[in-house]
Amino acid sequence: MAQHSEDLFKSVISHAKEYGFIFPSSEIYDGLSAVYDYGQLGAVLKKNLRDYWWKSMVQMHQNIVGIDASIFMHPTVWKASGHVDAFNDPLIDNKDSKKRYRADVLIEDYVAKLDAKIQQEVEKAAKRFNPFDETLFKSTNPRIQEYLAKRLNTMERFKTAMESNDLNAVRDLIIDLEIVCPVSGTRNWTEVRQFNLMFSTSMGSVSEEASTLYLRPETAQGIFVNYLNVQKSGRLKLPFGIAQTGKAFRNEIVARQFIFRMREFEQMEMQFFVKPGSEMEWYEHWKTKRLQWHIRLGLGANLYRFHDHVKLAHYANAACDIEFNFPFGFKELEGIHSRTDFDLKQHEQYSGKKLQYFDSETNQHYTPYVVETSVGLDRLFLAVMSASLKEEQIEQDTRTVMQLPPFLAPYKAAILPLLKKDGLPEFSMTLLKSLQPYIELFYDEKDTVGKRYRRQDAIGTPYCITVDHQSLEDSTVTIRYRDTMHQERMHSTALLAFLTQNTGMATVLQGV
Ligand code: ATP
Repeated sequence: MAQHSEDLFKSVISHAKEYGFIFPSSEIYDGLSAVYDYGQLGAVLKKNLRDYWWKSMVQMHQNIVGIDASIFMHPTVWKASGHVDAFNDPLIDNKDSKKRYRADVLIEDYVAKLDAKIQQEVEKAAKRFNPFDETLFKSTNPRIQEYLAKRLNTMERFKTAMESNDLNAVRDLIIDLEIVCPVSGTRNWTEVRQFNLMFSTSMGSVSEEASTLYLRPETAQGIFVNYLNVQKSGRLKLPFGIAQTGKAFRNEIVARQFIFRMREFEQMEMQFFVKPGSEMEWYEHWKTKRLQWHIRLGLGANLYRFHDHVKLAHYANAACDIEFNFPFGFKELEGIHSRTDFDLKQHEQYSGKKLQYFDSETNQHYTPYVVETSVGLDRLFLAVMSASLKEEQIEQDTRTVMQLPPFLAPYKAAILPLLKKDGLPEFSMTLLKSLQPYIELFYDEKDTVGKRYRRQDAIGTPYCITVDHQSLEDSTVTIRYRDTMHQERMHSTALLAFLTQNTGMATVLQGV
């Protein structure tokens, strides 16, 4: 990680806390690992992001509807979905440091280090390392040969071990590769165990009657089990989508990187039900659409890339991630998966209920195929915040500015009386009252106007409206632009149209 990226990440975390975007959960009790609370500004930014997704999906598509399913579901749902048996990560502990790791991540990190070494050698030939590049294998560079052989051997042993669920073989590999614990520096490892990532709880007040429930690890299953209810009550015809936003819970073994990997997080998922055989076309459609949706945020198209999955989950026939260049590098932001008819078929089998679609054109009953788009709201928040936070040099000074897309900003404008006297606060309050039913506004009369501008820059408010003595005479105000710091006078009656046009979501939604 480049030094400046590490610094940016630290600034994002401290800025988020200082200005009321994100706090560690239960901080007065020293926090709770990988759980965070959104503060007064974070909650609004998060809501605006959720609205952007919901409106793009539901309001802008006549064939997509939204639901709100419960977090608690019948326990058999998770048996049918495969989560009870297979939603596991292999974990290993270091006996000296008592630290717990994901065994697969230790091996992947080892391979990443080998890749970096190969990259160094390849750079001498001014090429980018690509493990599938045939010419590399013909390289006469002995170091490249040695690293490649190690890489190949490691990957093969790892793949065989994971595919046969042979956890002893995973441990043997860690020992043979001489992987040490980054904290204790020792190789004193425990056995590898499978660890189910679902949180469980119980329902019912009498213990004998209590049944084990899971906190949902994804929102998607709430959509699958409601597929027929929604299709029938909404008289929906294929292709159609069901969208949902909501909390999901995963007992992540290694939860770090701030809100990137949390134990309680929010997902925004859409399952698109299609006629079997047309799923690849729809998969490509949603791949393109979702990337465009992210790019419309205006953070920079170069910050996104696709990562196509080579190894597919047993239920998928195509899958990719949209990755974002976070301060710690490119990582998954959204997943797009062609899930076949796996989930609906599984629920048919476990519930004994038919979940089919009657196609009146062909007079046939069949189980629809599904293309899923799944984005983490918290990861999206982190992406937006880290790409927007800037430190700018202005004359002899620096300013911190969050260049949030205006339609996402918690406050669209701040109303600032130049002085706290002469009727300026009264004029400002009348202006505030007339605009606040339409637009989120902040009112501030403390400190010098320069300090107040800086504070609004730091929280991403796109416009500051200053009321001065001239305002009392001709009802004009000064409007200051966050990004250019340019100022101009405007009649106060023109403000509503100006702010709606420049900070509303409508322009962004056109064309999603
Ligand atoms: P990863 O490989 O990073 O663990 P995943 O492939 O398990 O993610 P999915 O199950 O496809 O993720 O979930 C869809 C989306 O939900 C992800 O793209 C991500 O944005 C979000 N997400 C998943 N796990 C977490 C988490 N622990 N914290 C925050 N967001 C998450």
